[in-house]
Amino acid sequence: MHKHVIHEAASRLSAIALSEIVQISEKARALRAEGRDILAFSTGEPDFPTPPEVIEAAHRAALDGQTGYPPTAGSPRLRAAVAEKHGRTPVEVIISTGAKQVLANAMLATLGPGDEVIIPAPYWTSYADIVRMAEGVPVIVPCGMESGFKLMPEDLEAAITSRTRWAMLNSPTNPSGAVYSAQEFAALAAVLEGHPRIWVLSDEIYEHLSYAHFTSFTEAASKLQERTLVVNGVSKAWSMTGWRIGWGVGPAALIRDMTAVQGQVTSGACSISQAAACAALAMGPEILAERRASFEARRDLAVAGLNAMPGLDCPVPEGAFYCFPSCAAFLSGAGGFESDAAFCEWLLETAGVALVPGRAFGMPGHLRLSFAYAEAQIADGLARMKDALEHLPACPPGADNTDADDGQSPDRT
Ligand code: PLP
Repeated sequence: MHKHVIHEAASRLSAIALSEIVQISEKARALRAEGRDILAFSTGEPDFPTPPEVIEAAHRAALDGQTGYPPTAGSPRLRAAVAEKHGRTPVEVIISTGAKQVLANAMLATLGPGDEVIIPAPYWTSYADIVRMAEGVPVIVPCGMESGFKLMPEDLEAAITSRTRWAMLNSPTNPSGAVYSAQEFAALAAVLEGHPRIWVLSDEIYEHLSYAHFTSFTEAASKLQERTLVVNGVSKAWSMTGWRIGWGVGPAALIRDMTAVQGQVTSGACSISQAAACAALAMGPEILAERRASFEARRDLAVAGLNAMPGLDCPVPEGAFYCFPSCAAFLSGAGGFESDAAFCEWLLETAGVALVPGRAFGMPGHLRLSFAYAEAQIADGLARMKDALEHLPACPPGADNTDADDGQSPDRT
């Protein structure tokens, strides 16, 4: 008798949902396939090409025979270059398949079931799911617009328990664009100094896309260096998302444990991509400054356009390439949308513009618009949104909603 094989997912996957960003992108693709003209502002990927010098270095590495298994923790050349950039030694550096794998290595190497990780919201969607996959518990701390989307020391203190293992910080922040100052980091460090078991993961992948002064957490909190893991990589600044190279910089013992995890999952990161990353790090700062200036102009265009739409409220992002306006005015009162996701779906269907709802980042009531697109495309998308919103029949943008039953408005809870 033929037996059906039934697939059973591991329990560690039960809390992990299909990424909302992927769902939006799939919907946008389906509408395009129907012949609709869709403008997607949903992905976090620079539209610039990888610099030709970097591509040439990869080509040379392949021709030179750098095609065997690389050392698990990274090629000596790239580890040394990263160590030099961060003022550390190569044993304090791991090279991984994207910054994402650095995060996964760190969580798998350190968390046990029930261990807690403090994550300020809004946060990059993968943080919470990576923690859950490592059987840890994400402890989400809402950091609303009123605090500049930043974690306040008192909120950090209140979130700490005897199970807390990590605080995950990200500056510049995806999706809010918040950038922490040295003083703000120092205030968080002062809280953590009293809790010696807690480690800090500082995700600095948008370092070179900061329009305000960038501070690395370790600069502001040198006393915590022995329990800080800095995460960075080439994906965003050098437009190398597909090359999959990121790194972690931290105490050698942690790097060793993360290397043990990586050794059983992927082995060393792609040898050719590591050669390419060496070439990226060796390039002068000009290309980074040029691209940053271009992103800044796009940011100004996007913020002005969003704030010109009644009902949207967009603070100026100080880093990364995302706007994160509040859309709370569209979610309350008679005729309001039932959620930010419903609003995004309506914008996609009516305006042909794909954005990501704030709930995907742990902060409902907002929208994320990536401005890593050509200015003409941004202008076109904003014009379409404005037009759609102006023709929205029952929505009360700008109206006084204070008496409305706005239990749906998550910003107030
Ligand atoms: N960290 C943050 C805050 C990100 O936004 C992203 C990508 O979107 C990553 C890490 C992942 O970087 P990588 O593509 O190098 O894995």
